[in-house]
Amino acid sequence: MTSELRLNCITPPYLLKRMLKSDDSEVRQAALNTLLTTAHLRGERSVQAAFPGAAAPGNGRRTVYDCRNTTSLPFAILARSEDGPESTDVSANRAFDTLGKTRDFFQQVYARDSIDGHGMRLDGYVHYDYEFANAFWNGRQMVFGDGDGRIFSDLTGSISVIAHELGHGVTEHTAGLEYHNQSGALNESMSDVFGAMVDQWALGQTAEQADWLIGREVFTPHIEADALRSMKAPGHAWNTEKFGKDPQPDHMSKYVNMPDTYEGDWGAVHYNSGIPNKAFYVTAATIGGYSWEAPGLIWYEALKASNSETRFQEFADTTYRKAGQLYGTGGSEQTAVLRAWREVGISVTGVSTGLASAQTRTAGQNGDPFTAVRALTVQVQDLSREVAALKGRVSTGG
Ligand SMILES: [Zn+2]
Repeated sequence: MTSELRLNCITPPYLLKRMLKSDDSEVRQAALNTLLTTAHLRGERSVQAAFPGAAAPGNGRRTVYDCRNTTSLPFAILARSEDGPESTDVSANRAFDTLGKTRDFFQQVYARDSIDGHGMRLDGYVHYDYEFANAFWNGRQMVFGDGDGRIFSDLTGSISVIAHELGHGVTEHTAGLEYHNQSGALNESMSDVFGAMVDQWALGQTAEQADWLIGREVFTPHIEADALRSMKAPGHAWNTEKFGKDPQPDHMSKYVNMPDTYEGDWGAVHYNSGIPNKAFYVTAATIGGYSWEAPGLIWYEALKASNSETRFQEFADTTYRKAGQLYGTGGSEQTAVLRAWREVGISVTGVSTGLASAQTRTAGQNGDPFTAVRALTVQVQDLSREVAALKGRVSTGG
């Protein structure tokens, strides 16, 4: 266990810091309170240990609790359960419905049984703290603040936020991407990918129809058309006089290097996630149709084939390999993946521009020796990865 609990929070530290500098004293107060509570939580290593039972399988059953504006999860009261009546509380019902939509998405689209793949129960906590401008996943529970009312409204109001947070759970139970530096930025990006896909799935939108924004409903509710992040245009999700501009890069040439500390956003995880986010958007836009179909399946399979230390380059290579395995080597899906990564400054290993177009031309031809060798290489790589994973399991005894 790390010395400090790394919570998966929706509000990046850079945003809270800018809120602290606001000339609006109420915004400053909300940011300070949120930072203090978050700092306290990070030091509270017992948060997860206090709920051993929560990890038990529960057929994805939802339970929503009301913290009544305190920071105590154990003393929160039951607001809604799977078989119980509707709550009189709007936030509780909204959290309940959206937890359900996210659970159903994973079940119906990827045949995944809840967050851990084994029917993990979903526990949501609403009205956490007072004017808490954040929402977080602590590995067991999903916790929502009410927001300060100006920069953030009630965090239960955004399906992309909830799916983003639960997405951290899916990553934790698959690749287990370490939450710092490039693996952390990939972890953040996967959550945005899930967040956007669940949002689009719930709305029935194609990649072209969607706005690709994360948290549009809850971030600066008074300002239209902005959000916490934009997968389509990282760096352009918000631009206000008060806070300046969204700092996300959309290309490797703008990669942000920061310290591996909370203040440094664990190596700029909420910044650099813009790069793989853009790659996913370009892939989905190029393939067309629904993002959760080919693009989402390629990313999900690549996530499952990744490990805790996977970096951008390896992940790009894996999505390319998976696209070939799922939809054919040199097919339009694989070509879309290749071009998307190239657009953000990452060249898939061993594939030059010339090779890619040659492959496209020879796609579907029987007996192409290059395709056969590639397919064999993929099989060997997968096999060695599985062997390595098995060895890891044996050595850790887990
Ligand atoms: Zn996150």
